[in-house]
Amino acid sequence: MPSRTDLIEELMGRFPHVPREAVIKEDLLRGGLAFDESALTDNESGDVKPKSYFIFSFDHRTLPELGAAALRRPPEEIVLTGGPYGLRRTVVSVRINPDSPYRVRPDDDGRLMLFLDGRAISEVGLPPMPDYYRHTLANGKSVMEVAPTIQWGYLIYLTAFRVCQYFGAKEECQYCDINHNWRQHKKAGRPYTGVKPVDEVLEALAIIDKYDTTRASQAYTLTGGSITSKVEGLAEADFYGRYAQAIEERFPGRWIGKVVAQALPRADVQRFHDYGIRIYHPNYEVWDKRLFELYCPGKERYVGREEWHRRILDSAEVFGPRNVIPNFVAGVEMAAPHGFTTVDEAIDSTAEGLQYFMSRGITPRFTTWCPEPTTPLGRTNPQGAPLEYHIRLLEIYRAIMEANGLSSPPGYGPAGPGQAVFSVSSFMDTLPAEAAAPRN
Ligand code: SF4
Repeated sequence: MPSRTDLIEELMGRFPHVPREAVIKEDLLRGGLAFDESALTDNESGDVKPKSYFIFSFDHRTLPELGAAALRRPPEEIVLTGGPYGLRRTVVSVRINPDSPYRVRPDDDGRLMLFLDGRAISEVGLPPMPDYYRHTLANGKSVMEVAPTIQWGYLIYLTAFRVCQYFGAKEECQYCDINHNWRQHKKAGRPYTGVKPVDEVLEALAIIDKYDTTRASQAYTLTGGSITSKVEGLAEADFYGRYAQAIEERFPGRWIGKVVAQALPRADVQRFHDYGIRIYHPNYEVWDKRLFELYCPGKERYVGREEWHRRILDSAEVFGPRNVIPNFVAGVEMAAPHGFTTVDEAIDSTAEGLQYFMSRGITPRFTTWCPEPTTPLGRTNPQGAPLEYHIRLLEIYRAIMEANGLSSPPGYGPAGPGQAVFSVSSFMDTLPAEAAAPRN
């Protein structure tokens, strides 16, 4: 049976124009990696920035199954460089899988390395503990809990509502563990605030603003579960919008404001914009009609796919098409038992969706599917999607973007191999560096 090394080298050979860094990064994101105990963090009291569990678990095992990594968290991200493939600097989000053929551990000289099938393939850099994580709010809560940063410090991730009102098998998206992740952290006794009070968010941001002296943080994302009724008396646009309003009043223009929310009717979208949000992510999740209906039963029931897409187009009139960036979960197209069974079919379908939006000036982006074990699709597809699918997606994404005269979307930091900081897929590592949008 071919090894994982054989697989990545075969794909590097077949797709020489896709950066080698992206091949390894996609494989790590879809299948996870293991950490030696010596490479784990000392949580919030050490020198390495720990994994914050900013919204989903993004792990291949539940917390109780992670062993030492449940007690001493892994780092939020790692950065890969050098090795036999000559990797340029590549930031990768950490998704733990104790059974992965990838393992982070020191080599015989004590240098931290990424091993694949027992061979060192890259040096590993760890994110330093940011100064702002060393301070707490007046009530004792940590900045990591209230306002964690990801993407090597570029993005402040504000999951204001830690659960989703699409609840249970008939409503939750079939690849999403937001509700389980909330339950497992509560059960483990970790601080994990269900609804983040606005004043706590402001206090945490003030600490970041004060101690982020290099101004690495450039953007914030407001997000959380979907709100189908109300939270604290507010419907979705006003619930998430009030945070932006408070942030923009207190720190006008300090960060680019983004929101990941449902595709809402135009009047609600206008309210997001009025509250000060500048980038809107109404995620369409998966393009294929049958798969959307099966995988996103709550969204299908409450809104419906056609209406969801119509609202995405409407929102471009409010935000401008460049600033509407809907996400899809790359890989679920191939999840058994309902997904496409060939890479060709999956790529054709995904490309159709990309062309639909990009021909209208809207640039979708994607995160690489992590098959978390407590989700229906993760249970039936613990290996995730074939690596070839992820590599060909990078190729087709860039081709359709260029055919439509578009460049990398705003709010993601720099593009290009060796430059990108976006850590949960390698689309930014694959786009040309010169195409980076201004203000990144
Ligand atoms: S809408 Fe779907 S993907 Fe989003 S939080 Fe709810 S269940 Fe998860």
